[in-house]
Amino acid sequence: MKLSKFIRRFIFITAFTSALLAFLISILYQYNNFENDSLHIKNELTELKKREIKQEVLTVYKLIEYRESLLNKSKEKLSAEEFEELRKKNQDELLDWIASLRFENSGYIFVNSTDGKTLVFEGKKVDNPKAHPYPNLFKQQIEAINHNEGFFSYKFKKLNTVEEFDKVSFVKKYEKYDWIIGCGVYLDEVQKELNRKEEVFNQTINYQIKSILVIFILILISIYFISEKISKYINNNIDTLIYSFKKASKNNEKINTNDLTYKEFILLANNLNSILENKNKVEKRLQDYIQIVNQNVIISSTTKEGIITDVSEAFCDISGFSRKELIGKSHNIVRHPDTPNEFYEEMWNTLLSGKSWNGEIKNKNKSGNDYWVYAIIKPVIKNKEIRGFTAIRSNITNKKYIEQLSITDELTHLYNRRFFNTKILEEMNRAKREKNYLSLLIIDVDYFKQYNDTYGHQQGDVILEKVASVLKNRTNRASDFAFRLGGEEFAIITTLEKEKAIEFAEVIRNDIEELKIEHKSSTISKHLTISIGLVSKYAIDIENSDKLYKEADDNLYIAKKQGRNSIHYNEDK
Ligand code: GH3
Ligand code: MG
Ligand code: MG
Repeated sequence: MKLSKFIRRFIFITAFTSALLAFLISILYQYNNFENDSLHIKNELTELKKREIKQEVLTVYKLIEYRESLLNKSKEKLSAEEFEELRKKNQDELLDWIASLRFENSGYIFVNSTDGKTLVFEGKKVDNPKAHPYPNLFKQQIEAINHNEGFFSYKFKKLNTVEEFDKVSFVKKYEKYDWIIGCGVYLDEVQKELNRKEEVFNQTINYQIKSILVIFILILISIYFISEKISKYINNNIDTLIYSFKKASKNNEKINTNDLTYKEFILLANNLNSILENKNKVEKRLQDYIQIVNQNVIISSTTKEGIITDVSEAFCDISGFSRKELIGKSHNIVRHPDTPNEFYEEMWNTLLSGKSWNGEIKNKNKSGNDYWVYAIIKPVIKNKEIRGFTAIRSNITNKKYIEQLSITDELTHLYNRRFFNTKILEEMNRAKREKNYLSLLIIDVDYFKQYNDTYGHQQGDVILEKVASVLKNRTNRASDFAFRLGGEEFAIITTLEKEKAIEFAEVIRNDIEELKIEHKSSTISKHLTISIGLVSKYAIDIENSDKLYKEADDNLYIAKKQGRNSIHYNEDK
């Protein structure tokens, strides 16, 4: 549910229920008041009626007293019989008068004699007084006179009716005549009065209910519009917030808190803004890192077939190719012709078996220059299937250069003596492992001292370079290595077996001779020549590298002795 809708409903329902409650409570309160009032009125009215009937009785009583006093004044002038007769007449007149008295609707005065006879009964004078038809009622009258100040309650029918009603009467005794004078009032008159009041109350309350209802409806309508307005206002704020959030999440744009009204929303926006700020910072840093990696780490991704799908800037820089030139091409684009096929075969076997490969690779860039990398290549495996490869490389060209420098002879660019010492051991062990042959050729220029003496030391150096380049050209297989051991002494390590090695030595010897370098001071030839001491052995038969070297050197010595420009090799034992 939308928040604004909820708020609108909430305001409306709350207002509705509170207005309804207030309305009900006010009605209930008025009813309650009326109940209390009517009880009070009932008591008041009853008291009033009681006072009225007492007043009625007392008026009659005083009149009787007055008439009796008038009678007594003329008592002396009359005889006893005459006085009695007059008194009797007076009493008759009084009873007639009393019987004629009426007040309100059904009020009348009744008179009984103290010996229990009725004189005026139900508003009529009784001509021949007889016993009271309701002896119990009469007893109540006597008790009231004696104890209850004259008042008593009972049920009695109204004049000319048979129905009985609650009645309260007041009685007073007139001693001289032994009369009991009484007057009663029916309490239903009080009730009737009350009913009239209730009717008036009901009318008023009805009117009130109607007017309150109208007010109530008017209030509800205005509350409806107010809540609508409020919800619209909140809705606008929420919409602004949502819009800003959307913008923020799409464009990393900060929320403008000026568009928001509510404190909570502003707080929310501020929080998001600081999250955004952090996110932007982190993203910027990440971007910087990516940039650094992109610029400095040589990365490439390829398909399973080795077709380049992505490269870093650093890859482009080192290879000299643009991204466009690289993507879609095979990695062979940077392959160095020196690297033997076996190297790549071994690499592919490792990678296709799902393992990662790492090692040093010599590459060639677009301009034809060499560069070396140390590569870590990993297969990308998804659902147990190789999908492609990713490779990160570091540029080790400098390291390789220094390394190369340390094993290279400065003048001839062949490997130097230091490297020879390591390599001879390595190759001997490898040949032993592979149960292969190992041949060592020690080569020495003939009469080189004389050459220097004749042509100069500098020219001697040029000649050494020429000899070296022959050796270099003849050792381009992965298993052949040429060295300058010092001075005008060279060596070649090869895995050729003896016959082939002899042929090989002969080819080299011939190559040098065929250079036709003039050597005037040589006693054996017009041209520069070399002598070669060769040892060729089944590797397992080699005791150690020193002995191997010594043997080759001895053979060289023999070759020199035999007249130079020749090869001497070991005889098979
Ligand atoms: P052979 O070997 O035939 O017995 O006679 P050789 O004249 O070559 O004798 P040896 O090996 O004793 O002399 C080697 C000479 O090579 C000595 C030195 O003048 C020369 N030499 C050594 N190193 C260099 C070098 O770096 N440059 C030049 N130009 N000459 C060198
Ligand atoms: Mg020498
Ligand atoms: Mg020599």
